[in-house]
Amino acid sequence: MLRRALRLGLGPGLLGRGLGTHRESSTLGKAEGSGGYRGSGVFPISSHVTFSTRGPGPRWEDSGSLGAGDWHGKVSEIKKKIQSVLPGGAWSPLCDTSHLPPEHSDVVIVGGGVLGLSVAYWLKRLEKRQGAIRVLVVERDHTYSQASTVLSVGGIRQQFSLPENIQLSLFSVEFLRNINEYLAVVDDPPLDLQFNPSGYLFLASEEGATIMENNVKVQRQEGAKVCLMSPEQLQKKFPWINTEGVALASYGLENEGWFDPWCLLQGLRRKVQSMGVLFCHGEVTRFVSSSNHMETAIGEKVTLKRIHEVHVKVDHSQEYQPVECAIVVNAAGAWSGRIAELAGIGKGPSGTLQGTKLPVEPRKRYVYLWHCPQGPGLEAPLVADPSGAYFRREGLGNNYLGGCSPAEEEEPDPGNLEVDHDFFQEKVWPHLAQRVPAFETLKVRRAWAGYYDYNTFDQNGVVGPHPLVINMYFATGFSGHGLQQAPAVGRAVAEVMLEGHFQTINLSPFLFSRFYLGEKAQEHCII
Ligand SMILES: Cc1cc2nc3c(=O)[nH]c(=O)nc-3n(C[C@H](O)[C@H](O)[C@H](O)COP(=O)(O)OP(=O)(O)OC[C@H]3O[C@@H](n4cnc5c(N)ncnc54)[C@H](O)[C@@H]3O)c2cc1C
Repeated sequence: MLRRALRLGLGPGLLGRGLGTHRESSTLGKAEGSGGYRGSGVFPISSHVTFSTRGPGPRWEDSGSLGAGDWHGKVSEIKKKIQSVLPGGAWSPLCDTSHLPPEHSDVVIVGGGVLGLSVAYWLKRLEKRQGAIRVLVVERDHTYSQASTVLSVGGIRQQFSLPENIQLSLFSVEFLRNINEYLAVVDDPPLDLQFNPSGYLFLASEEGATIMENNVKVQRQEGAKVCLMSPEQLQKKFPWINTEGVALASYGLENEGWFDPWCLLQGLRRKVQSMGVLFCHGEVTRFVSSSNHMETAIGEKVTLKRIHEVHVKVDHSQEYQPVECAIVVNAAGAWSGRIAELAGIGKGPSGTLQGTKLPVEPRKRYVYLWHCPQGPGLEAPLVADPSGAYFRREGLGNNYLGGCSPAEEEEPDPGNLEVDHDFFQEKVWPHLAQRVPAFETLKVRRAWAGYYDYNTFDQNGVVGPHPLVINMYFATGFSGHGLQQAPAVGRAVAEVMLEGHFQTINLSPFLFSRFYLGEKAQEHCII
């Protein structure tokens, strides 16, 4: 029964679990009792179960701590005492809360990377009445020193194996090409994404040639302009390539290349701020939820949870601010598995939906930048070798960047972002020099590491609501292609929240429930 209900995906049962379109008010207080936040879940069993942001169900993980009401009572009691003993009764040492997040918000987005900001943008853009939805983005590191977005190599392509990924990237490239129609802010200079439409060139060995042919068929069906090339054609077009071991190549003729991720991030940030989205510098450390235990018609026990408070630990302080909310978006990138755990996701017997974890973890990836005056030059696309090594041009000064994902059994410790320079010598350079003989003489100038938000199940995004923690939505797990898909994914998540179902691109195969059902949305073109 449970599996059947999940397979039905985002049916009408989900309508009403999100923000809905009929809300008159943006404040939680008013929404209570209005039915605006009532969740029906995806299960037939839950059709008679209702929630409110302060439901009667047991509070999860919060026994013994003060509720928000008790806390405010205590604070005003202490304030009164201080005022009565200190000279200058008007002085109020506990009043400066300007650095704290607001006490309530409709939607709290955990993570202010490109995915979190894109969800914020589309929520504001699609809201039915201006100012109807109060959105708060919580980001713990405003320098983005470890965020994948700014450590990525900025590529966009349509050469994927899954139709959903191709469609996501097709919409995203339209968004990027018209960035100033989407993200213009009055009186601010236009954005320059530095888009380089140089294409992606995938090379396949004999073994991978049939898969490549099939992938290109799907890509063309979805509207991508990709051509197949024989080794001879390849040699003619890119004479600097050694075609040994290459049986077939696929080359993107338009809408593929790379751009400046930082510019996209800042553009989104600037725009959503102008649309009224609130930002808070702090770390989400806890969720307070209510639970309802239920049994399906065949006796399966499930617990539905609703988060009604997010605890935000404020920077340089041991204090936290509780933020009441109706919806939480998990856009914490490589750390989103941890955020899911905080919400109780995966804490249950194995093999059950309750015990199914969000399989997203940080995986360290190195990027090396080298100089090579004899290299391929300005015509070079992003080249993905059958060995897994890749490179592209960086700027106009004979510089290139690239890397290679390690084998599963050689995954480096993700505990820090230190670079392994031997990895370049042993695992990357030999493949590069074999493919482009001119790279024999390259000189590495610098290197960095970043985290893939790696989905260990099928290397694809997780989009939409959790089936049991009914007001947590995901926009994560893109495993190396999240930057380019962010514009389309933000729109998809906002659609589900506002309308109860995907509207423009059906991303049902990317729902969380696939982890429990064992139904992979396997992407074969992962770099
Ligand atoms: C080396 C490398 C190359 C890549 N190349 C490409 C590419 O060419 N094309 C492409 O499309 N993608 C690429 N990617 C992948 C892409 O960068 C990611 O998929 C994408 O940026 C993920 O965006 P995000 O917003 O989910 O994550 P992030 O940018 O990591 O943002 C998540 C944010 O959440 C914050 N956060 C985490 N936990 C908390 C908490 N508890 N409270 C508050 N804030 C929190 C973090 O501080 C972080 O800023 C690459 C990634 C790497 C590492």
